[in-house]
Amino acid sequence: KAKENGRNQFHFFAKSMQQQVNRRVELEHKLRNAIKNQELNLFYQPIVDTQSASLYGVEALMRWQLSDGSFISPEEFIPVAEESGLINEMGEWLIKQACSDIQLLNSNCDCQCMLSVNVSSQQYRLGFNAEILSTILNDTQFNANLLNLEITESILLDNDQAVMNWLQDLRATGAQLAIDDFGTGYSSLSYLRRFPINTIKIDRSFISDLTASEDSAVLVKAIVSMADSLNLKVIAEGVENNIQLKSLNDLGGQYVQGYFYAKPLPIDALQTWVNEHICRFCCKKNKLTEST
Ligand code: C2E
Ligand code: MG
Ligand code: MG
Ligand code: MG
Repeated sequence: KAKENGRNQFHFFAKSMQQQVNRRVELEHKLRNAIKNQELNLFYQPIVDTQSASLYGVEALMRWQLSDGSFISPEEFIPVAEESGLINEMGEWLIKQACSDIQLLNSNCDCQCMLSVNVSSQQYRLGFNAEILSTILNDTQFNANLLNLEITESILLDNDQAVMNWLQDLRATGAQLAIDDFGTGYSSLSYLRRFPINTIKIDRSFISDLTASEDSAVLVKAIVSMADSLNLKVIAEGVENNIQLKSLNDLGGQYVQGYFYAKPLPIDALQTWVNEHICRFCCKKNKLTEST
């Protein structure tokens, strides 16, 4: 009986694994077509400087919309893109498109909006580098000092000289470097001094816990003060409500990205949002301070 159960369970797992593999293969095939048919899109989520109630920057996030209007989440298709190597051309396309979009946004007013893009460690392995980045910056006329490359902790952990050179070359273009999802990885903090990092983004999980868990508050406070003494900027991800914003500000957090201010928006909607909420320096308009 037990043997039979075991066998059934084995069949069950084997079947669901096979289904997962099939889904992967199918997704990769669909993704190739989506790239070819230009079905990938960019959304931009504002990052707010809460001290001056102004726009600090935006993060470009990839979106894949099917013909029926539904979306496939990046949590699902980015791993497929990484494993298949498609992330390389997707990533280059993204930076090009985002630089030209935000270049236009910045030319419409004096906002000087920073642009954050996610760079996967797989892009390092596949040959994305400073030379390619320089060409894009040149072609789009985007100010390199306004570009923020978001990488994850994992790539820094091997303490590899080649990674160090890669990052230093990227920095030499004028672009800045940020650590994404900070605090979720295997945390050896020494890399913050060793590598040429400018910004850390505190992972959303700490922010959602902020009001419920004393530990999260202690951690956020420690991260903010450590970043301060290392001269790093801190951006808090995933701020969804006023209570989280208040406690974050109490802990010294200044830069905020989250649904509380805005969800990721298509470029036209971003321009409208900026016009309506932010342009107090250039257009003397600012509704953010009223709403908070
Ligand atoms: P990420 O880089 O940490 O991006 C932030 C994610 O948090 C985005 O999810 C954003 O929509 C979400 N978010 C922002 N504020 C809130 C909030 O207040 N509440 C909640 N619940 N969520 C919030 P998204 O766009 O689904 O992207 C998920 C992840 O997929 C990204 O995490 C990033 O790791 C990856 N990703 C997305 N686009 C790209 C891309 O173009 N290239 C690469 N390499 N990765 C990407
Ligand atoms: Mg990111
Ligand atoms: Mg993140
Ligand atoms: Mg992430």
